[in-house]
Amino acid sequence: MNQYGRVAKNDRCSFFGNVSLGSSVSLSELRELYHVVILAYGAESDRNLGINGEDLSGIHSAREFVWWYNGHPDGHDLAPDLQSSDTAVILGQGNVALDVARILLRPTAELSRTDISSHALAALEKSSIKKVYLVGRRGPVQAACTAKELREILGIKDLHVHIQEADLVKTPIDEEELKNNRIKRRIYDLLSKAATESSKQTTGQQELHFVFFRKPHSFLESDNKRGLVAGVHLEKTILKEDEDTRKQFAVGTGQFEDLESGLVLKSIGYKSVPVDGIPFDYNKGIIPNVGGRVLSHTSSGGDLAAVEEGVYVSGWLKRGPTGIIATNLYCAEETIASISEDIENGRLGSLCRQTKPGREGLGRLLDRRNVKVIPFSAWEKIDAEETRLGILKNKPRVKFTTWEDLLQVALH
Ligand code: NAP
Repeated sequence: MNQYGRVAKNDRCSFFGNVSLGSSVSLSELRELYHVVILAYGAESDRNLGINGEDLSGIHSAREFVWWYNGHPDGHDLAPDLQSSDTAVILGQGNVALDVARILLRPTAELSRTDISSHALAALEKSSIKKVYLVGRRGPVQAACTAKELREILGIKDLHVHIQEADLVKTPIDEEELKNNRIKRRIYDLLSKAATESSKQTTGQQELHFVFFRKPHSFLESDNKRGLVAGVHLEKTILKEDEDTRKQFAVGTGQFEDLESGLVLKSIGYKSVPVDGIPFDYNKGIIPNVGGRVLSHTSSGGDLAAVEEGVYVSGWLKRGPTGIIATNLYCAEETIASISEDIENGRLGSLCRQTKPGREGLGRLLDRRNVKVIPFSAWEKIDAEETRLGILKNKPRVKFTTWEDLLQVALH
């Protein structure tokens, strides 16, 4: 936030909040207004499993759940049912899956001192979820999470961690995978240690079960309440090595088992959404690009002759939904280097010879459309008020979680 603040307060930067690409302003209009447009709107949709029962109620994407507990205004009304069942199943074992499991399992007295949204805290205080299953289609050697995040969840007080010893047995290919990857070795060691320690522990108020080598086959529907999820039908898997990539992938064995639960969170990855006026690679879920330069066709490979003049992309929209904040910093630097190079090499020549209306023009256009633009000074009002309310409650902030409240504070 401090970094954002420094940038936003620079005279050469204008912050236009509450503006939606596509509805408030189109990409082609932005291209008319500015010499260069950088698309950095991330990934705000979800990958689907494409299996039976995925539409049953009680199944949410992890993204929706994260939006809900983080106070995103579009996640305000999710109302996940945390009371009808004592079990939650999370599909996937990446960092988002761990984040979600941590929120379900961490003592609410601790959560109350964080900036979690008030509606989520109230629901979690009444939650009857005691057991959380984290289901991965591959093994502990391939778990997608990172060490810091794993350590955080394993460190929750009074948490009983369950890991089948048999799942920790390594094959020679696993050994090879670990030999070349320090991060994966760290994860494997943490899981092994947790398995040994928990086998000595007899009680624990909450349970976290790591379920490996299982992939979701379909969702089970409740007999009592039609339309409601009752669990997941899982297929046991084994790993096979891809000869080209040398990576191990999961294949079904035809053996099945059920995991009962009234709450299922799919944490299998985010997905970017396309924007009108620019190609989109639906297979990779990204805007096709080379080093951040947007390509005119998905099939144009790395040919610089086929780039869209003056449009660039950065972040998850450029690479797909992987990587931490630092990865996105390097990614942004690469895009900026491409822009600088294009200016120096005259690739933006025809564009740069024309004067463009820039921020004044954008301001006029949004004004004509009656868009309630939030300048940075108005964002600071939201920040100050959230922080003030937080001090009263001994928290970092109390978030406003509806568009009405946010606009009310910002514009008055
Ligand atoms: P992720 O790391 O890609 O993990 C996705 C998980 O879903 C993997 O376990 C994957 O298994 C599984 N999966 C994917 N497709 C599946 C399918 N069809 N059936 C069953 N399982 C499937 O994604 P993420 O957790 O959404 O995180 C996105 C990125 O944000 C990651 O790079 C993450 O590190 C980062 N992040 C960082 C932090 C942090 O630094 N604190 C917090 C949150 C997120 P396979 O491995 O078998 O594909």
